Amino acid sequence: MKYYSLNKQAPDSSFENAVRKGLAPDRGLYFPEQITPLNENFFEKLDELSNSEIAFKAIQQFVGEEIPKGDLEQIVEETLNFDFPIVDLEEGISTLELFHGPTMAFKDVGARFMARCLGYFNRNSDAEVTVLVATSGDTGGAVASGFLGVKGVRVVILYPSGKVSDVQEKQLTTLGQNITALEVDGTFDDCQDMVKKAFLDIDLTSKLELTSANSINVARWLPQMFYFMFAYKQLKALNKPIVFSVPSGNFGNICAGMIAQKLGFPIEHFIASNNTNNVVTRFLETDTYDPQPSIQTISNAMDVGNPSNFIRIQALHNNDINTLKSNLSSYSFSDDETKTALDKIYSNSGYIADPHGAVGYLGAKAYLSNHPNTQVIFLETAHPTKFLDVVEDVVSKKIELPPQIKAVIDQKKQATFVKDYEEFKSFMLKF
Ligand SMILES: *Cc1c(COP(=O)(O)O)cnc(C)c1O
Repeated sequence: MKYYSLNKQAPDSSFENAVRKGLAPDRGLYFPEQITPLNENFFEKLDELSNSEIAFKAIQQFVGEEIPKGDLEQIVEETLNFDFPIVDLEEGISTLELFHGPTMAFKDVGARFMARCLGYFNRNSDAEVTVLVATSGDTGGAVASGFLGVKGVRVVILYPSGKVSDVQEKQLTTLGQNITALEVDGTFDDCQDMVKKAFLDIDLTSKLELTSANSINVARWLPQMFYFMFAYKQLKALNKPIVFSVPSGNFGNICAGMIAQKLGFPIEHFIASNNTNNVVTRFLETDTYDPQPSIQTISNAMDVGNPSNFIRIQALHNNDINTLKSNLSSYSFSDDETKTALDKIYSNSGYIADPHGAVGYLGAKAYLSNHPNTQVIFLETAHPTKFLDVVEDVVSKKIELPPQIKAVIDQKKQATFVKDYEEFKSFMLKF
């Protein structure tokens, strides 16, 4: 499979090169040259296929011959060694739980897949790749866990000081080995800017082979389509139009769902559920794309002012806003509304959501009020214990820590404080 840069000023790329480089040389995001729907036979036999078989068939065209069938099957199988259950909450609303992986957020899927692809490409080489990743919370932990001990890969994670939850901070600062955490005096946008600047900094790029593990990387982004497929398989017997409400920040997850749709999965519509960082909600209302600095909220993994994957979503809809509007709705909710929703979900169904899932629930409710005969699935993108303070406060209940969290919570944090780009750069030059 060939990938082209959405900035259209760079040569086409192989899958391997796109994974190794993250961004194209013209700073554009890579996008698959073609997307071929899966055949009828695949959909007829869907019930008989395991998750790994579905995922393998879906991803194969995006990898092509670059990873042999047996190796790719193994990568997929290792990536997906946990469950993706659906829980029905109320009439027309279910949640897809994406938090059963090692760091209890959906990003485990993309991080595990990407780490294994890089490990495969490095299998016979002594070259070292440095993965640079900015995190607003969950990416760091998922990447740290996914890449721990992978041959030929060092990981540097930048996170905003004081703006991730305690559990999230422990998940990205306690593993050691090939994982290094940098605590940045700033916001997530500052972290992301430092990463972007590093990729353009010849002093660094001449010394280090840098790549990114944010959802701009095709190997992080594309495997996120898998669980939309698993959800469809579980719900298709309902015979209702299926709509996904996706709590969105950088819009990689929802964009991967749209790839599942392109591959032929009959998904009726998507809802981008946002917190007050709502550039896309406003775009669909006003036709003007007006990014703003990010605002801190209780659903911090969605505190993104200028979502990097939105350009891919536009490409998928021929850069036509009316085509886009027919497939995507977007709503934005405040922290107060989110807390009220957490409380309401708990009192109505006894279900404890996390703040991101609660935003997804609110989006589902808003859409359902105008489209009563659909089944809306909101993605539970993280486990509630990752946001313990907020959730315990709202539901007034102590939550038992799952084993994955217990394992890190008492470990000692190891992070280097950096106050600006220059400090970050000199750290990297000595690295
Ligand atoms: C990353 C993240 C999101 C946002 O996903 P995007 O792909 O960036 O839109 C939502 N919820 C949680 C818990 C996350 O970690």
